[in-house]
Amino acid sequence: MQGRTIVVVEDEQSIAGSLAARLRAEGFRVEVAHDGPGGVALCRNVRPDVVVLDVMLPGFDGLEVCRRVQALRPVPVLMLTARDAEADVLVGLGVGADDYVTKPFSPKELVARIRAVLRRSSGSRADADVVRVGDVELDVARMVVTVAGRRVDLTATEFELVLTMARQPGRVFTRSQLLDAVHGVAFESYERAIDAHVKNIRRKIEPGSSSPRYVQTVYGVGYRFGEPDG
Ligand code: CA
Repeated sequence: MQGRTIVVVEDEQSIAGSLAARLRAEGFRVEVAHDGPGGVALCRNVRPDVVVLDVMLPGFDGLEVCRRVQALRPVPVLMLTARDAEADVLVGLGVGADDYVTKPFSPKELVARIRAVLRRSSGSRADADVVRVGDVELDVARMVVTVAGRRVDLTATEFELVLTMARQPGRVFTRSQLLDAVHGVAFESYERAIDAHVKNIRRKIEPGSSSPRYVQTVYGVGYRFGEPDG
């Protein structure tokens, strides 16, 4: 993870400066641009491993920067938003950002998010292994789920949800905790999105089952992953 290149596009000099200093202290190479066109040009030149992108920028905004940068070459993008409302806009636009952080953010939090984005994009997950609960088997590195040997196709978000719960069988997760778990895999504004994912996961893992055996509802709280009859 050391020596990875990060492009920071942020027009507020104080934020850009302190962010760059912090990231350099963490061992990253950091290049900074202060407006939209400059950010796109910088990404073209330095081919970063991850881009940290403010939404409101002179020239054109961070969403446009994100689009243009992704068109050049796919790269993980972490957006800096001024408020949650902007994050909602990001959700709607689906501009191809991988994660977002709302200002004011803690540098520690941002560094953690950047590392998570880099880990996901590198495909060399430190926690690669196989998780088994009953007949359900999750191959973490390959993102493959099988149920009694039958392969089940889950989306990335569904996979992360199942993995999060299956790593701690029986533990009850609130919808909010599950949202956190998939944060960065996809933008999900509302806890109700979790219900929709769970519905899809059940349909795939336990087709035709009227009472879910694996992904169990804990009324008033959330969900847990358990062994059948366990
Ligand atoms: Ca700004």
